[in-house]
Amino acid sequence: MNFEIMRKKMVQDQIVSRDINDRRVIDAMLKIPRHIFVQEAFAAQAYNDKALPIGDKQTISQPYIVALMTEKLALTGSEKVLEIGTGSGYQTALLATLADRVFSAERIRPLALRARKCLDSLKLFNIQLRINDNEGSPIGWEEEAPFDAIIVTAGAPDVPAVLTDQLARGGRMVIPVGTDTDQQLITIFKNDEGELELETSVMCRFVPLIGRQGWQA
Ligand code: SAM
Repeated sequence: MNFEIMRKKMVQDQIVSRDINDRRVIDAMLKIPRHIFVQEAFAAQAYNDKALPIGDKQTISQPYIVALMTEKLALTGSEKVLEIGTGSGYQTALLATLADRVFSAERIRPLALRARKCLDSLKLFNIQLRINDNEGSPIGWEEEAPFDAIIVTAGAPDVPAVLTDQLARGGRMVIPVGTDTDQQLITIFKNDEGELELETSVMCRFVPLIGRQGWQA
């Protein structure tokens, strides 16, 4: 199996052809080996146009949705980024390639530990992972706030104020909001006065965000 050829084809057929234009996002997706972030049994499907199971009833998101959410953050390389939902670590690897520092939180310990191994194997050392497996703990990473960009890769019932509070002025946050099965992707801009502006885009289907400002486990 030639994963490099499969990756190039994925980027051309699923990303570039669907109007993802940010050259840095495209280059990062050409570079990061998605197949190492899935279980071996799914490696041959890693570049397909769909989400895949990663264990513990969680998923690695569809490549196009990963690209779209990443593009909406408009990263230039200098940002401090917060990710909620490390999952496989694939999105984390892209963020680490595109930004200065990444803080990523995951509530399922075995997933976080596996993601850590994959990220270390790629020598991506600008990432801090946190395991948030205490159901009562608030979503986010208050001690490290504010963040220039926040990405939530699980579906929330509403935009959690605890996260917009952790967004820097001039920052952007992208989050799926809706029911526990279907959501709309929302991008939030915090302007220099600290006011929030919202932009909606595609419908999507994420696993639920669990916690005090999300859904019950
Ligand atoms: N971005 C991931 C990737 O590339 O593999 C996909 C993440 S998966 C769709 C969503 C993840 O969010 C799951 O691993 C889930 O355990 C995690 N999650 C849900 N609620 C969370 C919370 N409150 N804090 C941290 N992680 C959470």
